[in-house]
Amino acid sequence: MTAATTDVEPQPTTGGLSEAVSNIDRRKTKIVCTVGPACSTPEQIRALIEAGANVFRLNFSHADHPWHTAAITTIRAAADKLQVPVAVMQDLCGPKIRLSRVVEENYTVTAGDLIRVTTERHLAADGPAISFDIASTYAALLDDVGPGDVMLFDDGRLEVCVEEHQGNVIVVRVVRGGPLSVGKGINLPGVSLSTDSVTQKDWQDLEWGIEHDVDYVALSFVRHPDDVAAVQSRLAEAGSRAQVIAKIERPEAIEHIDAIARLADGLMVARGDLGLETDLARVPVLQKHLIERCRRLCKPVITATQMLESMVHNAVPTRAEVSDVANAIYDGSDAIMLSGETAAGKHPVRAVEMLDHVARVTEADLRQNPEAQRRQIRPTSTVAAVVEGAITTAIGVGARRVVIYSQSGSTARALACHRLPMPVVALTHDAATYRQLSLSFGIEPLLLPSRIKLPKLLDDLDILVARHRWGSPGDLIIVVSALDGEDGNTDTMHIHTVR
Ligand code: PEP
Repeated sequence: MTAATTDVEPQPTTGGLSEAVSNIDRRKTKIVCTVGPACSTPEQIRALIEAGANVFRLNFSHADHPWHTAAITTIRAAADKLQVPVAVMQDLCGPKIRLSRVVEENYTVTAGDLIRVTTERHLAADGPAISFDIASTYAALLDDVGPGDVMLFDDGRLEVCVEEHQGNVIVVRVVRGGPLSVGKGINLPGVSLSTDSVTQKDWQDLEWGIEHDVDYVALSFVRHPDDVAAVQSRLAEAGSRAQVIAKIERPEAIEHIDAIARLADGLMVARGDLGLETDLARVPVLQKHLIERCRRLCKPVITATQMLESMVHNAVPTRAEVSDVANAIYDGSDAIMLSGETAAGKHPVRAVEMLDHVARVTEADLRQNPEAQRRQIRPTSTVAAVVEGAITTAIGVGARRVVIYSQSGSTARALACHRLPMPVVALTHDAATYRQLSLSFGIEPLLLPSRIKLPKLLDDLDILVARHRWGSPGDLIIVVSALDGEDGNTDTMHIHTVR
């Protein structure tokens, strides 16, 4: 059979990036880059993809819809041109509380000061009658906080303690001072918020995400599984294939983590707000627990925030940051996220290159003991039994590669959580699955033009192997598929010898 007549003709490889990178051992840990002013032009996006970006996060805490429309258009065009799978994640900002006004420019407070805090809602109602020092976007602030509650500003750099309510203001005493300016975030650790987790703005932004066919929707400040279910239900109703990532950053989310993790399609360890809303010292503990939970559920997990923070300004990260990235990979993260490093930093491409390098070095060490990476699965379903057999066989016979045919991506994810030492290629004819799998550890998605049944796939496999240089004659390739090529019917593991 010639390449021209095969059903597994993938996207053309014309000597571009896809062909070049398929020849080397690819990095297994995926890289999520937050898009911002430092990386929004076509050249910058292309440079990030070439450096190793797998997923781009559009942060809806910032910028307007036209800006995000321009960004997603640029990302999709760059991925098409380079013929690589790239996913787009829309990050809904949730009930993020911010400072909306300060009484004067260069406003600075010092420990011991008493200041008056109000809200935009009260200012709109009572305007000039209110004597205040700072105001917040959060309408229910005065209802939700009481004497003794702590408020943190600007990522926890400043701390105040609530003393009392006085009509339309609360009086707070500054514990840790510093400058305050409009737009800085406010966290209320331990305070139960009365607002919905998915705000009116989030619902409007979600419509944009549906219209622009985003691959993932990340939900900030999730508190309850119902928050996830509500968004999933709107996505399903609109016919969207977007998967929902629950950002774990509130204590209520930790309380309900069982149900949230089961319902969501993946989790993000959102260490920035998590370290403000809970005890900072518990962040590494929670990170390990959340990652392990996702691996047991075979769902992707992203470790986020301050991974290479010093690279916002410096060309070289600190030793602590490099160790943190490596440890997040040892913990079992599918992906590592860069925030300010790529969105607003001075060295976005270098930050991705550094992450790529640290990941490759760490993964080389992980490959030394593949059994330690496996997770126990009780093969109580056909898919689980086939996956279990494929893992045991791939490690046992030293297979060169595992090739899965996956329509929805679930079989690929079922393998990803076992972190096999060899590359795992996920063939799919579904463009959404192709992009979404770029978040899963060790999965190399490849788009086929149409559905394929196993006998045909086996017939054509040597053509694919030769074209993508997946192995040499005599190498063993483990194939996992449904005999009939139907989604959810994965029932066969085959050992193929490359001819
Ligand atoms: C975080 O808080 O760690 C996080 C990822 O969310 P954001 O960057 O939207 O604040």
